Amino acid sequence: MIIVLEPGITDAEYNHVLEVIEGMGFQVHVSKGVRRTIVGVIGEEDRLRIQPLSAIRGVERVIPVLTPFKLASREFQEEDSVIECGGVKIGGKNVAVIAGPCAVENREMLLEVARRVKKAGASMLRGGAYKPRTSPYSFRGLGKEGLEYLREAGDELNMPVVTEVMDARQVEEVEKYADVLQVGARNMQNFNLLDEVGQRGKPVLLKRGMSASVKELVMSAEYILSNGNARVILCERGIKTFEDSTRNTLDLSAVPNVRQISHLPVIVDPSHATGRAGLVPAMSLAAVAAGASGVMVEVHPSPERALSDGEQSITPDVFDGMMQQLRTIVAAMERELQSGRPGNQEDGG
Ligand code: PEP
Ligand code: MN
Repeated sequence: MIIVLEPGITDAEYNHVLEVIEGMGFQVHVSKGVRRTIVGVIGEEDRLRIQPLSAIRGVERVIPVLTPFKLASREFQEEDSVIECGGVKIGGKNVAVIAGPCAVENREMLLEVARRVKKAGASMLRGGAYKPRTSPYSFRGLGKEGLEYLREAGDELNMPVVTEVMDARQVEEVEKYADVLQVGARNMQNFNLLDEVGQRGKPVLLKRGMSASVKELVMSAEYILSNGNARVILCERGIKTFEDSTRNTLDLSAVPNVRQISHLPVIVDPSHATGRAGLVPAMSLAAVAAGASGVMVEVHPSPERALSDGEQSITPDVFDGMMQQLRTIVAAMERELQSGRPGNQEDGG
């Protein structure tokens, strides 16, 4: 249920509205827009329907939310959410580029990639320290050591860092190092993990499950939002289809699709979506043209030697060329590339 408050509502009336609703045992989430203040009321649907909330002084309208997600819906918040991630803005007119290796393999390689992508204009650094792998015998990441290298590279280059957290028990450790917590495709419906990251303050990059619908993706975001953390970035990373010439099928329509139903920013990961380095630049440009708030791409100095996802990793040189083309698209769309905070060693490396 959404309650639209009267434009000229006084502070006393506003407090009274919240008191009454909370007194009924419902949860309230306030969204203060430029023109209007909207109160999202969450509670048992049956009980909500019979409460005459429109009778409360200061309430202009009561609108039932038709979608199963509430706080993540466009109805609840008309304006795009802009998520601040360690100095970089994701959402609205901004376009952010997150780049880095699939996995943090060692200190030197990470620093090399970080310097190169920073120089090319990346906004944020990625790298997995805890890797979800199909085979338990594959490289599963450096763990805490990887997190330390990631933080060091982020600090040296003055770039916020994003890394995956695979389990609710890992959140406390990972959040000490990361600016953004990534919940991977395989964990999109790990509801305990969603609850845990929702109770923490760090922004969350939530990736679409490979067999999940757009609606299910937004429902998972709702878990995080309903726990009090409004800083959620969605990520389309390809879904399973019958097509077998690509690793997954990039559902580019998910971008405008999500944007119609939700105010949350959505970015695209063309690396996991296609599984082929040769397709990554074109799909990155297409993603931004489709209205994505950014892209996340895997970059490796020698993909043929990568310990994971080498086939889909682009080289720093290819990344450089891609960034130049991306600037043209960003300008044509009258958007702004978030090149991040000024680097400590911008021409380093
Ligand atoms: C990743 O980004 O490294 C990753 C494992 O992605 P996904 O969860 O989308 O497979
Ligand atoms: Mn990967």
